[in-house]
Parts: sequence; structure tokens; C-alpha cells
Amino acid sequence: MRASQFFLNTLKEAPADAEIVSHQLMMRAGMIKKLAGGIYTYMPMGLRSIRKVEQIVREEMNRAGAIELLMPAVQPAELWQESGRWEKYGPELLRLKDRHQRDFVIGPTHEEVITDVVRKEVKSYRQLPLNLYQIQSKFRDEIRPRFGVMRGREFIMKDAYSFDRNQEAALKTYDIMYEAYQRIFTRLGLNFRAVAADTGSIGGNRSHEFHVIADTGEDAIAYCPASDYAANVELAEAVCNFSRPDATQNLQKVSTPNVTACVDVASLLGCELNKTVKSVVFANRTETEEGVMVQLILALVRGDHEVNDIKLGKLAGVVELSLASDEQIQAAFGCTPGYLGPVGVSSQIRVVADRTVAAMGDFVCGANEAHFHLKGVNWGRDLPEPEVADIRNVVEGDVSPDGKGTLAICRGIEVGHVFYLGTKYSKALQATFLDETGKPAVIEMGCYGIGVTRILGAAIEQNFDDRGIVWPMSIAPFEAVLCPIGYKKSEMVREAADTLYSALKAAGVDVMLDDRDERPGVMFADWELIGVPLRVTLGDRGLKEGKVEFQSRDGRIEKCDLALSEVAARIV
Ligand code: ATP
Ligand code: MG
Ligand code: MG
Ligand code: MG
Repeated sequence: MRASQFFLNTLKEAPADAEIVSHQLMMRAGMIKKLAGGIYTYMPMGLRSIRKVEQIVREEMNRAGAIELLMPAVQPAELWQESGRWEKYGPELLRLKDRHQRDFVIGPTHEEVITDVVRKEVKSYRQLPLNLYQIQSKFRDEIRPRFGVMRGREFIMKDAYSFDRNQEAALKTYDIMYEAYQRIFTRLGLNFRAVAADTGSIGGNRSHEFHVIADTGEDAIAYCPASDYAANVELAEAVCNFSRPDATQNLQKVSTPNVTACVDVASLLGCELNKTVKSVVFANRTETEEGVMVQLILALVRGDHEVNDIKLGKLAGVVELSLASDEQIQAAFGCTPGYLGPVGVSSQIRVVADRTVAAMGDFVCGANEAHFHLKGVNWGRDLPEPEVADIRNVVEGDVSPDGKGTLAICRGIEVGHVFYLGTKYSKALQATFLDETGKPAVIEMGCYGIGVTRILGAAIEQNFDDRGIVWPMSIAPFEAVLCPIGYKKSEMVREAADTLYSALKAAGVDVMLDDRDERPGVMFADWELIGVPLRVTLGDRGLKEGKVEFQSRDGRIEKCDLALSEVAARIV
């Protein structure tokens, strides 16, 4: 590629809304352009890196036996109603109507669509296993899109879905995907860690997130340097704290006067709760925000509701509220039993330890699509710290759940997620097959995501300096740049640059020739900002002795003279 024919658009300053370095540098390097909140155009420079990430992902998925397809972004609501997620997914799901007033969604993920494909096509055990994947733009109406492509609303994801005959086979597939992910993130040149994550109501203990280690990561990871224990903190907390037998008792303790400022969920929902709540079950963290449940339980306890049975299983998620009757639930919540309606984000609300709650800052929750914005409590300022002390997360130095040492905490960016689904979707959508004995059986599933565009941001968070991005070679938009000084003035320079450029291209190097005839300072600043790994500088003076300057962006190869004839061999 010649710079004069490319669409270069570097910026001196990053826009004010770019808070973290990867966002700033991607904007300055002209890799992305913002169209609306969380929605970006991938500019030619950015797209080159995206395509390289995709290619690595694609190669490793194919190698692991997965098959590529491409599903529609627009999906009919009926499928989501069938799976139950039309109600459960909440405001992150972008819903729209067509001209006939039929409901559709823009896919935030594709379990429903792929399960529909498979249930229609797969009839016999002979057609299994199957692992299907796509690389596609997803839309999630994130409450707080930020950090550029890191938390976008429209973003590119690789999502794979596996279909197996039984649990044993499904778990084997899971392991194959786990291995493929290890290879992918290694090839991408990232410093990453696979950590255990909660499977919520699905159980099976098979869910891992792949995190790129970075201080700016939105997630916290707990790991034990003395063993191979690693989990996201939510799971670590759940394991450390919620297995305690006295948890229920301590939950009651929370109904101290100190917590009066907690949100009364019942009144929020505009309903009178029945006095007797038969059971409250904490089940699946991933579906709902735990803060809402805690608030709800507090409201119940404070309101003198008789709570007969509080089960603290896995940390948080869906509240199953068995009120006196289904009709009452319907009347109270406007939704079916077992589900409290779409829930937004409750920020900074933590369910902690064997104790319970701290609610701080703003708290947003939604039920039945109604949204409430409320002021929560700033403990210590608005109210004295709750007596129930020890409101805290898992912290550095806590005993590791495996008992083999103490925990260290670091921050990470979730770039991939592998998840054993069991029959969650196949059961709901009735994806069955005839097994070896001719009996119908439900297909076992897994799903496996990779945040393709998020990877760009994550890679930059790990590889930058004060001059710009320092791309790992595998995903750099260009592998090498030729910077001729005086390209238009010196025939010697032009000829040497053109010849080297042709030779490198012929050898398959992804090379950029900066033929803009800019001053050296301008060229160098641009390519250092963009982060091209190798640079060759050609000038009259050196060329007279048959020499050029060679250096690598990461500093591992310091600026040195190289015979022009040797350059190709060094780069290829
Ligand atoms: P997060 O916890 O960051 O919201 P998630 O757990 O909701 O992510 P998954 O449903 O596991 O995301 O999707 C698979 C992958 O897609 C994630 O591991 C992440 O890399 C990527 N991803 C998810 N949401 C976004 C987003 N808003 N912008 C960019 N990438 C995303
Ligand atoms: Mg999310
Ligand atoms: Mg996540
Ligand atoms: Mg995830």
C-alpha cells in the first residue's frame, strides 16, 4: 500500500470523551470514527487490524473443527419469546417493529437463531456433533457505552455454538474450544488469563472468561499465585462467601434501622406485596442484577413480610418469587412468576460475604420496561455505615477457595467467554434428535464468544508508549513501513524505495510505502502513532553507501544501519 493512495487520517488530539489510552490512540491513529454513542465506523486502518484478528480466530476455529456460517442480524421476536429471553434480556435488547408492526430484535447474540437452524436440520445422532460459528456485528444497547470499541453498542463478535449428543460429548467440545481460545489469544500476542466464571442456573461448572490483563479493565480477577486458581471476583466471592451456612441468618440482620434508606422495591414497582412470600431463591447471577434482589429482600424484610425460605445458592441472579398465587404475581409485577421483569443496572451494589448489602451511589432499575432513577445511599455521608461490618469484596490476601494459598487481585478485559449451556436453549426451543436407540433426546449445547473489536482496544492497553500504539506483529495494520526521505526530490531514494517496496510485497510482507514526501518528523510521528512494528528509513546519505536505517517500534531492534540488500531478509 502506498500512503498517497490510502486514507490516512491521524489526529494530533484525542477527543475529550476518550478516557482511556486505547480509545485515545485508536481515534488519533484514525482507526475508528464515532458515529453515535458506542457506534463506530471502522476506518481502513482499523479494519486492517480487525481483519487480522478475524483471520486468526477463523483459522483456529476451523482447526478445532468448527464450521463458519453467517446468520441474520435482524431476528423475529417469536424466537426470543420461545426462549423466554424476550422478557428476560432487558433494555440491552434493541427491539424494533417492521412495517406490519411485527416485533424484531437486532441480535445481541444468536443462541435462538442457531438453535432454530439446528432443530430444523438435525434429526439423528449421526448428524452430531456440530459446532457452528460466525463473525458478525452484534448490537447491545449498553447502558454505558464507553472506551471506544471496548464497550461499544455495535461491535464485532465471533460467536460459536456447539451441539452434542450428551453431556460428556458437550464437555469434550468445551475443552476443545478452551484449547482453541488459548491458541487464539497466544497468537494475538496478548498477555491473558483464563478465569472461571459463574454458570448461574445452568450449573455444570463450565464457564471460563478469557481476560486480557490491564489496569483499565472493567472486571476484577482473583487468582492464587501458589496454585492455578483463577476466577472472576464475582465467582470468587460466591464461592468464598455464599457457601456459608449462616448466610440466611445474616441476611435477616440487614433489617437494621441503618438500612432504611434502601430502596423499597415493592413501592417502586407500584404494588402491594403479599405478606407471605413463600420463597426467595437466588439462582443465576448472569440474568439479573443482584442489587435488585437484595433490595427486594430488604424491602420484604423491612415491610414485615414473612419470608419462609431464603435460599442462597449460587450468587445472585434471578429471583424466583413465589407469592401466594401466580395471579398475584402477575398483578403485582405484570409478568410471569419466576421473573421480575427486565432489569437494568444497579451500580455499586454488592452482595457481600455472609452479611449483605451496601448500596451506594445511583441505582437504576427497571421493571416491566418502566425505569426508575433513584438516588441511593452514600453510606457514611447520608447514613452511618451499617453495623453489619465487613461489607467488602474478596480482597488481596483472602484465603484462596482451593485452600492452597492467598488470593491476588488484578484487573482484566473480558475478550472471550466459553460457556457450557446444557439444554437451556435446546429444551426451550425443542431441539431434539433421535439417539442410537431411536429415542428422542434433547441436544446438549455450548456457546463461545470472542470480542473481535474489543481485542483491538485490549491489545493497545497492553502495548503503547508516549508516541502511540505498539502493535503486536500479528494484528498490526501494516507489518513494515518504508519512509523515504525526499521521495519526490531524489531519484536514488525513489528508486530504492520503490524496488524495496516491490520486493517486500512480492515476498508477502504487509508493507506500507510512505510516498507522501512529508518531512521525516511528520512521517515518523504518524507511523509511531499508528504503531507499525518495523520501519525502514531511506535517505540519500545512507544510500550512497548502500545503507538504510532499520528499527522496530517496540524498541527491541534499536535504530541501526543495514545494507539495502539485507533488508528484505530481515523483514520477511
Ligand atoms: P461484558 O461482561 O464485558 O459486558 P459479556 O459477558 O456481556 O461482556 P458475552 O455475552 O460473554 O459478553 O459476549 C462474548 C464477548 O463479546 C465478550 O467476552 C466480549 O469480548 C465481547 N463483548 C461483549 N459485549 C461487548 C461490547 N459491548 N463491546 C465490545 N465487545 C463486547
Ligand atoms: Mg455484557
Ligand atoms: Mg461478562
Ligand atoms: Mg461474558
